[in-house]
Amino acid sequence: MKKILSIFLPWFIFAGALSYNMNVGLKLKGKWGAYVNGKEIIVWENNSTKPVSSFYFHLYQNAFREGASFMEDMGGMPDKWKKHNEWWGKEKIIKILVDGQDLTANLSYVSPDDGNKKDKTVAVVSLPKAIPAGKKANIEIEFETKLPKAFARSGVGKGYYFVSQWFPKFAVLEEDGTWVCHQYHRNGEFYADFSTYDVKIALPEELKVAATGEIIERKKKGAHQILLFHQEKIHDFAFVADNDFIKMKEFYESPVQPRVKILLFVQPAHKNQAQRYFESVKRALKFYSERIAPYPYRRITIVDPDISGIRTSGMEYPTMISTGTLYLMPKGIRFQEEVTVHEFGHQYWYGVVANDETDEAWLDEGINTFFEVNIMATYKWMFNYLFFKSKDAERQRVTYSKTTYADPIITPSWKFFPGTYSNSVYTKATLTLETWKRLVGEKKFFKALSNYFYKYAYKHPHSKDFFQTMDESLGKDWSGLWKPMFYKPGKVNWKVYSVRKKTLVLLREGVDVEIPVDVVVKLSGGKEKKFKWSTRWMKKKFGLNIKEVRIDPEEKLMIDSNPFDNWWSKSSPLANKLISSFLDKLQIVFLNLLP
Ligand SMILES: [Zn+2]
Repeated sequence: MKKILSIFLPWFIFAGALSYNMNVGLKLKGKWGAYVNGKEIIVWENNSTKPVSSFYFHLYQNAFREGASFMEDMGGMPDKWKKHNEWWGKEKIIKILVDGQDLTANLSYVSPDDGNKKDKTVAVVSLPKAIPAGKKANIEIEFETKLPKAFARSGVGKGYYFVSQWFPKFAVLEEDGTWVCHQYHRNGEFYADFSTYDVKIALPEELKVAATGEIIERKKKGAHQILLFHQEKIHDFAFVADNDFIKMKEFYESPVQPRVKILLFVQPAHKNQAQRYFESVKRALKFYSERIAPYPYRRITIVDPDISGIRTSGMEYPTMISTGTLYLMPKGIRFQEEVTVHEFGHQYWYGVVANDETDEAWLDEGINTFFEVNIMATYKWMFNYLFFKSKDAERQRVTYSKTTYADPIITPSWKFFPGTYSNSVYTKATLTLETWKRLVGEKKFFKALSNYFYKYAYKHPHSKDFFQTMDESLGKDWSGLWKPMFYKPGKVNWKVYSVRKKTLVLLREGVDVEIPVDVVVKLSGGKEKKFKWSTRWMKKKFGLNIKEVRIDPEEKLMIDSNPFDNWWSKSSPLANKLISSFLDKLQIVFLNLLP
């Protein structure tokens, strides 16, 4: 340990910051036994305005034990798992010293969200003496983590080890002195403070290792390799080790983006798809750097998981993302591009602008999926296979149309009505932002998002901060859109309710979204009337007979749950109705077939 401390800069030069120095080893025992054990030295500062008399830690891998809330959310541990104790995960603090004093006996577990006594994902240690505001503490923790069989976001496959959420991790202390430390639920992710990480890992020599941050030292010791990683201004650290990884690299730079090294750790079976990974990350880098801000780190590492660890795909960690594909995936089905673009986007949303992913998941997932939709649009098609062509945005709308929304988007992740968490925080949020963008114009909207990014970079914003910054940047109160869409359950549908000769009735069903909607009416004799409509319903009389009605002719309203009732035509109303209803069903059938 002494040696580690001498390598690193002394903690006191990181004024006001948190830092983790770790010295750990990955030990393999049998087919599923993968243990990470060692020591972490954390320098922590009380950044709140109150004295602190206890510390809260996340022990995430305890989610994969019998009775844990994560497992209970899934209806209990799967039967297969019950027969295989060696598949379970666990995490233990063996010893904890605070400023040199052994406080191991003061450790206990709490379940602030659901009171489940069997859940051990949150540990608390009471301090004999409170730490005043502005003061620092030095915490030394000895721990051991057993990884589960590759499950949710972490674990073991065949010669494949995805080591994430693996060390006792400090919860976030808010300014008013309250700890935010949610249990690990099936729905809901993470929340942590920015920190400097220096992580030394010893592991078997034959493994190839992808990790957060920059590698600054590589040594050999017997049958082991010892790697040292360093990164500042991040809030998590993960690494992946695999027997078979092929390591490839490319670079991206532009007048607005300093050079970024793109590292790809790809499975041999997917090597011929490597360019698809590189291209999608480059598209994302271009899109973000030109509209929001340059990517602030020097490298991005892409991990292509082994098929045995496919459940670790589609995750984001600071400077490292896991993606995924299948052997012989056709070029016209861009799942791998979508997941790469999505996970890369998390480097901005949650990576740098770090909201609480458990309480307000939409703030990263919704904004990030909105970007995903826009970056995927640069490919023209998300799917272009056989007879079917579709864009990401259309696919999102089908999901939205099919969903019954019993809760507002702003609902803590683990409290959503069954099956609606992701359709709310990803899909409904995305479509609301996409609608908003189409209403105000692309340039203005991305500029406002860029303002939000710069204002809250390396901070922990809340939803109200987002809406306030957007309204201010856009110079207009848009609460008629965001209040009902984010704070109310349900969805919205604008429709042509009835047409009788010269009289038109329009109706808005569902949540009260009060935004001006374009309507175009064609009258007999070729005359055209254009007007805006924002009330719940409207009855309008014209001087001539109505030939055709079109609500939202430019298709700005992506939150309109049924776009097919926006159109009425005197010439062939029934045929049009049948065709649009058929196309609608066909699309839903196809999209339901997709994984
Ligand atoms: Zn995401």
